[in-house]
Parts: sequence; structure tokens; C-alpha cells
Amino acid sequence: YNFTYKPLKNAEGVTYGILHGAIDVTKLVQLQKQKDEFLGVASHELKTPVTSIKAYTQVLEKLIRNEGDEKKANMVRKMDQQLNRLTGLIGDLLDVTKIQSGRMVFNQTQFDFDLAIEEVIDEIQHTTSKHHINADLQSKALIYADKERIGQVIINFLSNAIKYSTDSHHIDVKSYLKDEEVVLSVRDYGIGISSDLLHLVFDQFYRVGGHLLHTYPGLGLGLYISAEIIKSEGGRIWVESDEGAGSTFYFALKV
Ligand code: ADP
Repeated sequence: YNFTYKPLKNAEGVTYGILHGAIDVTKLVQLQKQKDEFLGVASHELKTPVTSIKAYTQVLEKLIRNEGDEKKANMVRKMDQQLNRLTGLIGDLLDVTKIQSGRMVFNQTQFDFDLAIEEVIDEIQHTTSKHHINADLQSKALIYADKERIGQVIINFLSNAIKYSTDSHHIDVKSYLKDEEVVLSVRDYGIGISSDLLHLVFDQFYRVGGHLLHTYPGLGLGLYISAEIIKSEGGRIWVESDEGAGSTFYFALKV
């Protein structure tokens, strides 16, 4: 139970009694647990059919392309791209349930930081023809961490940089070594974030607000998951931004 006490005062301000209240928090905790369990089961159940549809779609695209019908094959490719989005959203929901139940697994290995960033940039550059990702990778460091999970954070930074900069097409990625840490930064020249909202962007479900809500799709989970990954790896994550001029997202990891 959560107890509350409130003094009861008469017109002269003299206390004549105490109002005592109690809220049953066991029920709230139970509801929260049920919600987390539901989210876990729901995202897991959604994942299975989507994975299967995706496999069929890829086979279908190949078959149609072999028959020489480019137009139909491109339509199937579009379906496949939307399925990638769906897989990403389901993956984010699954990650949240993993974080909340403390079941996110980290497979630590040693890897070349700059090379890993380069691989992710190549992957993301293929998904956009409008944006150019410019890289200046100078850390020259080997780090010990979960390469997939670190890649996931970089993907989140880059896809946000692309998503939130519709009118400018340059993105600058840097990596460097500073005071026994490797730092990665992703700078965009897009819409930026107002200074009073900066501290909220790593919160669970926090999303761009107002009239922009429907312009930029998303669940508001990418940066929350990124922050959890970086914190679990013993690192730091932060953002600098100028509303209307762009944002720079950073993380730093011990070498
Ligand atoms: P989503 O992009 O799905 O909303 P994120 O967790 O990735 O969720 O980001 C949370 C919020 O932070 C976004 O809704 C947006 O308001 C803000 N944000 C993130 N990246 C950028 C960026 N590069 N430029 C401007 N705003 C951003």
C-alpha cells in the first residue's frame, strides 16, 4: 500500500484531525506486469507470420524478375521494404520487453570500431538516394562490446538523421578517440530539437509533438533502446541540437 496523510485544519489554521488514505499498489504492479507480458507475447506472435511473409515475398520477387516483369517485381520489392519497417517496429517492441524484464543478452566480442561504423553506413546508404552520409572515421580503435547492438544504435542515429532532415541532404558521421573513450557522432542539418525538450528524447515513448506527429512516423522507442544499450555497455549517450538547424547525437564507450 501507498499511504498518504493530510492534516485537516479549521478556519483558524488549527489542525483538528488527519485524513488518512491508502492506495493498493499491488494491483498497479500486477497490471504493469500483465501489460509487459502482453507486449512480450504480442510482439513475439507478430514476428512469426511477418518473418514467413517476408521469406515468400523475396522468393516471389526473384521469380517475377526472372520472368522479366520489372514493374511487378518492383511492386513486390516495395512490399518487402514495408515488411522491413514492420520487422523493425516489432523488433523494437521485443527489445523493450527484454529491457524491462532484464533479459537483453549481450554477446561481447572485440571488433574494429571504425570498420563496424563503415559497415552500418554502407547498409543505410543503400536505403536512401536523397541523403549523402559523409564519414570521417579516425578512432583507429578496437573495442569490446556487442557489435550487433552497437550497430543497432548507429542505425537508430542514422535513420533518425535521415527521417528528421527532409530538406537537407547531408549527414556527417565522425569517430575519434578522446580521453580513453571512443566517440561516435552523427550530425544532421534537419529540424533540430528545442532546448526544453532535449532531455526527453531518450525517454520511453517520447515522440516529436504537435503538428509534426504525423509527418514523421515512429513509436518513440529507438533512442530509449539505444540509451539502454549504451548504458549496459558502460558508456555515455547524449545529444546537442539547435532547433531549425539540426542535431548531433553522440555516444562514447571505454576502450
Ligand atoms: P521515433 O523517431 O520513432 O519517434 P526515437 O526514440 O528514435 O523515436 O526519437 C524520439 C524523438 O526524438 C523523436 O520523435 C523526435 O522528436 C526526436 N528526434 C530523434 N532524432 C532526431 C533528429 N535527428 N532530429 C530531430 N529530432 C529527433
